[in-house]
Amino acid sequence: MKPKTEAQELAQIRLAMRGAEKQTGIYEAQDLIRLALERHDKIAVSWSGGRCSTVVLHIALQICPTIKVMHTDHGVHYPETVKYVRALARKWNLNLTITKPEKTFWEIVEEKGFPKPRVPMDPKKGQAAVRTPACCRWLKEKPLADFRKKEGIEAFITGMRAAEARIRALSMYQKGQFYFVKRLKAWKYNPIAFWPTRELVNYCLSNDVPISPVYKTVNRSGCWPCTAFVGWRNQLMRTNLKFYNFLTKMMGEKGDQWALEHFYNTRIEPPCKTERA
Ligand code: SF4
Repeated sequence: MKPKTEAQELAQIRLAMRGAEKQTGIYEAQDLIRLALERHDKIAVSWSGGRCSTVVLHIALQICPTIKVMHTDHGVHYPETVKYVRALARKWNLNLTITKPEKTFWEIVEEKGFPKPRVPMDPKKGQAAVRTPACCRWLKEKPLADFRKKEGIEAFITGMRAAEARIRALSMYQKGQFYFVKRLKAWKYNPIAFWPTRELVNYCLSNDVPISPVYKTVNRSGCWPCTAFVGWRNQLMRTNLKFYNFLTKMMGEKGDQWALEHFYNTRIEPPCKTERA
């Protein structure tokens, strides 16, 4: 994934804030968590083990040390993330529930194929803004919905940020910093919705918030076999060549051939026009 400039991030944040101001108003992270705690009796932090949700979790714990925390062990986290989640849960003494999905990633792939990048849809035709890959529904949305139902959760606190993706910025522009999600039947509160990445980094450094060691090699800490974003090959090859070879074999591809082509293309400049002529 190509990194954004700070100016691009700020443009996305400004867009999200313009809409959110009218919808819900703009809140500081701590104020929004306090508001959520005032409005709802049953509330939980949705914690993926990623940087953003870990920062939100840290802020929430300063306000309510016993707050419920939910994490889904969907079976395709990087091994570093699995260890990190367990270690931090012990260190911070979290009131944590770990849920598991009903289907494995590989069962979903068998039924629906490997995940493809999200496709923008047409909300005017009554469609959702984007088509979500089937595995996201089974591995992420369903476990969250089941946990909500079982625990009677009224609201989730999330680490969603407008700076991460334009689609998220647009969603906040339309709905605000917190909103009711009909399909989930619960509210979502996004305390660090308008934080640029610099603010997130500074928060971790000044509050000694440990981040998953997986970030030493990847930008996205999510599911290791995710093929739903541009650049998944380069990321996986860099992180774990064994996983990369396994995945390409599962996809029925000649992984070695692709890796060798990539090796060549990243080292050898294509000839300029005059040389070709
Ligand atoms: S992040 Fe990728 S692999 Fe994980 S559930 Fe979503 S689409 Fe599937």
